[in-house]
Amino acid sequence: MIKKFIRKILGVKEARNTDEPEILGPEQHGIDPKMVSANAVRVTSTLQEAGFEAFVVGGAVRDLLLGVKPKDFDVATNATPEQVKRLFRRAFIIGRRFQIVHVMFGQDLLEVTTFRGTATANAPKDEHGRVLRDNTFGTQAEDAERRDFTINAMYYNPANQQVLDYHGGMKDIRARTLRIIGQPEARYREDPVRMLRVVRFAAKLKFDIEPTTAAPIAVMAPLINNVPAARVFDEMLKLLMSGHALACLQQLRKEGLHHGLLPLLDVVLEQPLGFKFVTLALDSTDRRIAAGKTVSPGFLFASLLWHQVLEKWNAYQAAGEFPIPALHLAADEVLDSQTEKLALQRKIGSDMRDIWSMQPRFERRNGKNPYKLLEHPRFRAGYDFLLLRCASGEIELELGDWWTAFYEADEVTRAELVSSASGTAAKRKRPPRRGQRHKDGEEAGHDEYEGQAQVQADASDDDADEPDDNFGGEAAPAPRKRRRGPRRRKPQGEGAPAGDVPQGSGE
Ligand code: ATP
Ligand code: MG
Repeated sequence: MIKKFIRKILGVKEARNTDEPEILGPEQHGIDPKMVSANAVRVTSTLQEAGFEAFVVGGAVRDLLLGVKPKDFDVATNATPEQVKRLFRRAFIIGRRFQIVHVMFGQDLLEVTTFRGTATANAPKDEHGRVLRDNTFGTQAEDAERRDFTINAMYYNPANQQVLDYHGGMKDIRARTLRIIGQPEARYREDPVRMLRVVRFAAKLKFDIEPTTAAPIAVMAPLINNVPAARVFDEMLKLLMSGHALACLQQLRKEGLHHGLLPLLDVVLEQPLGFKFVTLALDSTDRRIAAGKTVSPGFLFASLLWHQVLEKWNAYQAAGEFPIPALHLAADEVLDSQTEKLALQRKIGSDMRDIWSMQPRFERRNGKNPYKLLEHPRFRAGYDFLLLRCASGEIELELGDWWTAFYEADEVTRAELVSSASGTAAKRKRPPRRGQRHKDGEEAGHDEYEGQAQVQADASDDDADEPDDNFGGEAAPAPRKRRRGPRRRKPQGEGAPAGDVPQGSGE
């Protein structure tokens, strides 16, 4: 009592006892039990009936407290993975070092984790202090302490509707504050990915980052370089697919996190044209996610890296390379440089190549070329990408409009569109060529594309002897066999075309 009084007079904050949680009843936390997934309740009650403790935990509790429907439910328990597995018909132990259990109900997957301990002092670390393994089991209080932010360290028991709050998470939720648990420098050093997580949550939840949580980020940002590429990639993907990608990116810049640590963003955000393109791409991605539509990571990364490709593509052409091989070289170079740090998965890389390699083909609107392109299995993604390029001012709007009209048109209108485009192209004055150029027709077997900011189609250019524009090497999906019969009205892909707002979909 006296101690408390003296502390109050001296303005010393009383240290919270984080071994004992604050217990909040339904009237204090206001969680609507109907928002808790039936399967999460099934898991916690099965564990509890078997004599274990079990709680919904982490992001799901945070979202429930904010009145947001959680996208997934994680469960924390004092049962060991083996004990959990035995209680469920479809349960799989995942991971070797720290095992967790995936419990499946139909398509629904719940992650069940045994409370983790906090023995980080003795845990093996790399030379920068990053914890390499922390695979000890612990008490619930320890489990709470090793979580990242106060708002992510609360436990909800659906059976009695109580929330256990070890670190003042409820107060921070109310104040819309992100506060790291423990000493910020130490926590970022243990796991630098937490710096990306704080940015993602701040942008997604529209929370403020508490000053001492934010302060070390700018200085400690380079530590992300030591994190394995696959983990950075996973976190980046979460960030970009959070439905708040644009806000996340702005927050990354604000915190100085885009510099030097994420090669991809570092480059893109420094170019004004690239910035506009990326902004449009992310904005459309966010809107797709808000509308419950799918987003293809390949499309997203193809957008983020496009201006890097464009720059190199132009440089290769200026050095005398033909347009198509120049584009291949540029794509290779950009993908190589990113794979090292970002661990771009093979499938994503090949989707990106597909989208990029289609772009010059949109310029060719004569003869059979547009019909052939329409049949490309990834046409829709390529077309959405083209619309982004138009919207960003990189190329003329007219080209995107033409393709939208062509995409929607019936057979007769399509034929008219092709002949009018060919006519326009024939009349259009060809701009002077740079570097090693030849007279029309001399580049037999190569595309006539001149680089960016031009819309043209060569009337004499048909597709008969044209090499496939797909990049070699990677397993780009082969274009479907040409059907000679009546033409289809629409290519496969979803619904109506995007109109003036590119959808960033992929297919
Ligand atoms: P989201 O809504 O994006 O899934 P989330 O908080 O659930 O947010 P997850 O990555 O699913 O994020 O992690 C689940 C929980 O695990 C977090 O809420 C947090 O308690 C803990 N956690 C995840 N990553 C870390 C980390 N790097 N350091 C400490 N705790 C972490
Ligand atoms: Mg989660």
